[in-house]
Amino acid sequence: MPIDIAHFLDNLKQEVTTYQVPVVDLIAVQTKDPYKVLTATILSARTRDEVTAAAAERLFRKAPDVATLDRLSEAEISALIRPVGFFNNKASYLKALPGALAEKFDGMIPRLVDELVTLPGVGRKTANLVSAVAFGEPAICVDTHVHRIMNIWGYVATKTPLETEMALRKKLPAQYWIMVNGVLVAFGQGTCKPVRPHCDRCVLKNECPQIGIIPRKVPGATRSPAFVQPLKLVSWNVNGLRAVEKKGFLDLVNDFDADLLALQEIKAQPEQLSDALLEIPGYTAYWLPAERKGYSGVCTYSRVTPLSVTKGLGNDDFDREGRVLCLEFADFYCINAYFPNAQHGLARLDFKLAFDKALQAYCEKLAEDKTVVITGDFNVAHRAIDLTNPESNGGNPGFTPEERAWMDRFQAAGFVDTFRIFYPDEPGHYSWWSYRFNARARNIGWRIDYFWVDQKSRSRVVSAGIRSDIMGSDHCPVELVLKGKL
Ligand code: SF4
Repeated sequence: MPIDIAHFLDNLKQEVTTYQVPVVDLIAVQTKDPYKVLTATILSARTRDEVTAAAAERLFRKAPDVATLDRLSEAEISALIRPVGFFNNKASYLKALPGALAEKFDGMIPRLVDELVTLPGVGRKTANLVSAVAFGEPAICVDTHVHRIMNIWGYVATKTPLETEMALRKKLPAQYWIMVNGVLVAFGQGTCKPVRPHCDRCVLKNECPQIGIIPRKVPGATRSPAFVQPLKLVSWNVNGLRAVEKKGFLDLVNDFDADLLALQEIKAQPEQLSDALLEIPGYTAYWLPAERKGYSGVCTYSRVTPLSVTKGLGNDDFDREGRVLCLEFADFYCINAYFPNAQHGLARLDFKLAFDKALQAYCEKLAEDKTVVITGDFNVAHRAIDLTNPESNGGNPGFTPEERAWMDRFQAAGFVDTFRIFYPDEPGHYSWWSYRFNARARNIGWRIDYFWVDQKSRSRVVSAGIRSDIMGSDHCPVELVLKGKL
């Protein structure tokens, strides 16, 4: 049954009066200044509101108008707005803004969407918001919250924000055009969250069709069998979390739609990371960076708070390198591991074999209690079918008899390589490719990233796969779908 949009939006307009006001609306109300609304909107993309508000305040202190903005260098702007997402790009847009305004609009901020989109760094979403909020023009700003929630309600059935904007232009009553963004952004941040919306306390819960969503588990409620559902786990050696962020990592996290996302080789301390990485909506991040900056390190993003988090194996030699992070859930452990590389000349082979042994003992101990999932970059190809050129690589780091023999022992101890459940003897599936020799395009690679489970949990494995379509690192992500509960 179609929803009554007026009833929904009127209800929410009332509801969000107690919510945090989106920063751009706040600036519009407080300043009524189109320059500030435009600038803050540019800053707000991919950035939490608190961070945007602080950056905007710093910027406006130095540059309260277009003329003063023009006097700042790009480096000064960048320093002022940091750490908003993509601050370098945004600094370059803001540096170019006064010139573009002077050239096209006599130094004034234009009021129409078609004019605003000609300015540097101003897309349709920003233009609609500025036009509506700063000038009161009849524009509909469709950001991710408006697009998502309108589809959850079945008021539109669209694939992109642009399609949603066009559909809303045809059917949304005019009195809701300007307000719909502010209301749904606040509501989307506070209740109808992108992941596991809080339907249990939503004012619309009795009328909302809830299309395509999985509500959160009610805090404190008894776990019911309904929550025993396949869980999706993704693991990826990102080869530098800051580097991969610039290559669209946050969009990929949405694409993965994982309950648990285990990352290796993050090469960063949490304090070196952007707010966008530290607080991905719907996830809590657990970190074990290496002591040495820019080296190794693991992190697991989880949709649910684990029962416990264990950092390291209790061995300083391994733990200072940030290699093992274990999250405990209701009926399984998830161990995220970044195995050492045996290195050129096998300089660290002994270190690696000692790590292998210690990790296996850890897994065996945990498996006495409940299911163990161990994932990560194992830095070893197990069998000849796990790399393109086994003959020429025999004895090289990652394919030495000693490393492979350890993996045989791990398997003999009862652990199962989940990918090989589904592709027992199929060659050509790899998770790492050298950056040299156009190796990835030619699929000359190695399978060294895995999901293993203990033997008694094998029947819980629904599927396992390799996302070789995902770029951004010299490794690609691997996946596991497991029957279980968080
Ligand atoms: S009931 Fe759930 S899905 Fe529907 S609007 Fe409320 S929070 Fe969103």
